[in-house]
Amino acid sequence: MSIFTGSCLCGSVNYKSNSDPLVIQNCHCDQCKKATGSVYLTNLFIKEENFEITGEVNNYTHLSDAGNNMTKYFCPKCGSQVFGKNSGRPGIITIRAGTVNEKDIIKPIRNLFLKSKVPSTPISSNLEACEGMPLN
Ligand SMILES: [Zn+2]
Ligand SMILES: [Zn+2]
Repeated sequence: MSIFTGSCLCGSVNYKSNSDPLVIQNCHCDQCKKATGSVYLTNLFIKEENFEITGEVNNYTHLSDAGNNMTKYFCPKCGSQVFGKNSGRPGIITIRAGTVNEKDIIKPIRNLFLKSKVPSTPISSNLEACEGMPLN
C-alpha cells in the first residue's frame, strides 16, 4: 500500500513510498539552493527499499562539505529534481517535497544550515533550529 506518491513536472517520472517518512527537514544550504533553484529545500527521508519509481531519471553527483557523494536524480525531460542520495547515508533517499502529491504529510521538524539562509525567508519558531548540520 502506498503511503504517499509523487511525480516530476511533466509526469514522466512517478513514484510511490510504501512507508511514512522517517523525518522531514528543511535545508537552507547553498548547495540545495543552487540545485533546486529555490531559497531552501524540504526533504522527506525514507528507506530506499520502500521507494518504487517508474520513468527514466538522470543524475548529477557532487561532494558535500563533509566529503560525501551527493547525487541528485532529475527528470531528463522537464528537469524536476525528484530525489537524492548521500553516500554518507546508505539505504536512505531524500524525496523533494515539492514533488509529493499528498501535501498534508509534509511536516518538517527542523531547519538546517540556517547560517546560509536567505535573510527574507521566514523561519517558524516551532521547528528545531540548526546553524549547520546537526550531529545525529
Ligand atoms: Zn518530467
Ligand atoms: Zn542542503
